[in-house]
Amino acid sequence: MGKLFSIGEVLIDFIPLQKGVALKDVVSFERAPGGAPANVAAAVAKYGQKSAMISKLGKDAFGDFLVEKLVEAGVETDKVYRTDEANTALAFVSLKENGERDFSFYRNPSADLLLSEREVDPAWFQAGDILHFCSVDLVESPMKQAHRKAIEAVTAAGGLVSFDPNVRLPLWKEAEDCRRAILEFLPSADIVKVSDEELEFITGIKGEAEAIQSLFTGNVKAVVYTKGAAGADLFLKEEKFVSRGYSVEAVDTTGAGDAFIGGFLYQLLELGANPANVEKVLRANHGRILQFANASGALTTTGKGAISALPAKAEVEAVIGR
Ligand code: ADP
Repeated sequence: MGKLFSIGEVLIDFIPLQKGVALKDVVSFERAPGGAPANVAAAVAKYGQKSAMISKLGKDAFGDFLVEKLVEAGVETDKVYRTDEANTALAFVSLKENGERDFSFYRNPSADLLLSEREVDPAWFQAGDILHFCSVDLVESPMKQAHRKAIEAVTAAGGLVSFDPNVRLPLWKEAEDCRRAILEFLPSADIVKVSDEELEFITGIKGEAEAIQSLFTGNVKAVVYTKGAAGADLFLKEEKFVSRGYSVEAVDTTGAGDAFIGGFLYQLLELGANPANVEKVLRANHGRILQFANASGALTTTGKGAISALPAKAEVEAVIGR
């Protein structure tokens, strides 16, 4: 059976206890483990497949807290390095009156960005594994080279590569660098997840169908297009499968996309997907895979935070009526 490897940032989200207060006026925060790749690793582990994080944390109390939370979720942490050269990454979140989030990051540079190519061992990966990554980690070296090495190694071993660009445009001052990095790494992915909010930015194309088609480059075999509460569409090169979302009382949408792709990759591991059969597996099981992923995303919006709001597998199955 394959294993998920999720590479990239693990950080602490500091969530304000008061709502609708500008970041500069917030007086108290609560801590929640986060970072998109960590959220995905936690979802896969929680649903019951093997899952490992590849990252780096500071030798500080924040790093200890994050390792503890990953272990609690069932994620293997033996590839999470610790360094005293930099501190663990932190994100300070504030919720605006309209429910939108605002962030301020401590990342100058944080320990996660120091993960180096030397610290990635190609022998970790086997056929049937899946490597998942996001784009925020691609803009700076040495993290970028570490990603490149892991992607090449899992591909050579006969595993799948999953890419969620996860662009948060208003947050990113280096948007153009980020877009360049996304386009550079896109062809090395087998599966790409994009949301309706980022499609045009990434592709530079206005029409949805044409923009999605432009993502089929290099190794890309499947594009998962998420549309918030409306659900998600799955595209293979010449096919489209539509799925509807589940209606829930959303309180915090942090981590919905991560819980969605976590549920999706969990199903691919269950079904024994690999680069040679992934299109066939998706064609034969799209209903079950998308329902599970949609329910995973929807339920995560009903609680605060990302990892802390992940549902149990039984709760996901109850929603999809299994
Ligand atoms: P991202 O979080 O990456 O921007 P989306 O907002 O499209 O991605 O959400 C990912 C998935 O999570 C959706 O496809 C859907 O299944 C689920 N989801 C997100 N928001 C809601 C919501 N308000 N109600 C129900 N499901 C949701």
